[in-house]
Amino acid sequence: MQDLPSSVEPARFALCADAIAEAARELAALGWTPATSSNFSMRVNDELAAITISGRDKGRLGREDIMLVDMAGHAVGTPSRPSAETALHTQVYRRLPHAQVVLHTHSRTQSVASRLFAQAGLIRLEGWELQKAITGYTTHDSVLEVPVFPNTQHMPELVARVDAWLDAGRPLHAYLIDGHGIYTWGADMAEARRHLEALEFLLGCELDLRRLSA
Ligand SMILES: [Zn+2]
Repeated sequence: MQDLPSSVEPARFALCADAIAEAARELAALGWTPATSSNFSMRVNDELAAITISGRDKGRLGREDIMLVDMAGHAVGTPSRPSAETALHTQVYRRLPHAQVVLHTHSRTQSVASRLFAQAGLIRLEGWELQKAITGYTTHDSVLEVPVFPNTQHMPELVARVDAWLDAGRPLHAYLIDGHGIYTWGADMAEARRHLEALEFLLGCELDLRRLSA
């Protein structure tokens, strides 16, 4: 049971939890969250985020499957364990003040693309109309770079790689983890969903191009 600190109105927590659960059910229906993988979060206020509890079936989430963490990734007001990758969510909220929602999925397309482009360290998207679905991109002529970071079970290593990319001043709207999946985010659930759907589509197109030109 989630106890709410005084800084969080029950209606605010309910709104965040319901939005996360609904998005998770819809993304699970697309097959992007196999075998209880994937995790989703929403910023509740400056200090707290709501995030999926570890190990739950993402196709069957309800309000009771969402918990609070602080921006260091520690559970707040519950004995539940947050997703193993909570540190990657809270990093986005700390580093990118506009981000309100973080979505992480493990689709087949995301997984295969991450392996294919791991050695290059990034996927360079250019010439696709759907790049315009990413906020800030207004033309297919733009170049959208999505980094691919090595997978690890040691979250501080991944956090350091994301920090290094951001510290270099490079734009970051999403990243892949090798053999694992994608992280993306947005200023609200609709924008985060749009980014995720566009990237899934673009990665699928890049894979098809390589199949057809083999
Ligand atoms: Zn994952």
